Amino acid sequence: MTHKRLLLVMAHPDDAEFSAGGLMTLWHQAGHRIKILCLTNGNAGHHTLSRSELADQRLDEARQAATLVGADLEIWPVDDGRLTPSIELREKLIGAIRDFAPHLIVTHRTADYHPDHRATGQLVQDSAYLLQVPAIAPEHPALSQMPSILLSYDRFRDPRPFRFDWVIDTASVQDNVINLLACHASQVFDWLPSLMPETNYSYDTAWLKQFYQRKPTKVAATYRAINPTGASLEFAEAFEISDYGSRFTPDHYSFL
Ligand SMILES: [Zn+2]
Repeated sequence: MTHKRLLLVMAHPDDAEFSAGGLMTLWHQAGHRIKILCLTNGNAGHHTLSRSELADQRLDEARQAATLVGADLEIWPVDDGRLTPSIELREKLIGAIRDFAPHLIVTHRTADYHPDHRATGQLVQDSAYLLQVPAIAPEHPALSQMPSILLSYDRFRDPRPFRFDWVIDTASVQDNVINLLACHASQVFDWLPSLMPETNYSYDTAWLKQFYQRKPTKVAATYRAINPTGASLEFAEAFEISDYGSRFTPDHYSFL
């Protein structure tokens, strides 16, 4: 079997699981390869832990989640909230993408609530053409085949709402996604609840399931509204095709 390689280039150590936990699970179940590349260490996402304590904890959490989907994991030593689309990081990213040689990249759109997400989307976009230019980052051989690039779902309407270009049914793996998210305990059981208005409440796995499933439910409902053939879809993940990658052919991923 020729292994398909999926590379998630995300800003923080839980973004891949929140954005594409279903895709990763289905990809892993089909026996293909995954790498999660986090461009920051996520060390600002907590209300009591220091940056260094949180970076260590989030590395452990990300490793646990990566293990569940058989993914390689790389986390860059960049502070959470301080990612910029610099030329230095662009060339580092070009090297990382070339070394893994993915068929498919998933990243953020450049319209998103978090500046690190926007910077990550920008870095992938800025790297794309240069992946095939040998004079850039010459210590990593240039790619002969460009990957396709997909952008994860967000709710932002400015400058343009998200396009539902590729929608996958994640109903069969919802529990797996909850298990992936539960690995990120510092986020889903500490930080997220600290932002919730109700403090006298049990923020446990049952709550996490209820909280997380709003998104795949909304994605499925939105897709059903624009595409009546998806009438039975209950939980879904959606992706937008980036013009910066090679042509995306869903048939290549019919194993999902
Ligand atoms: Zn994030």
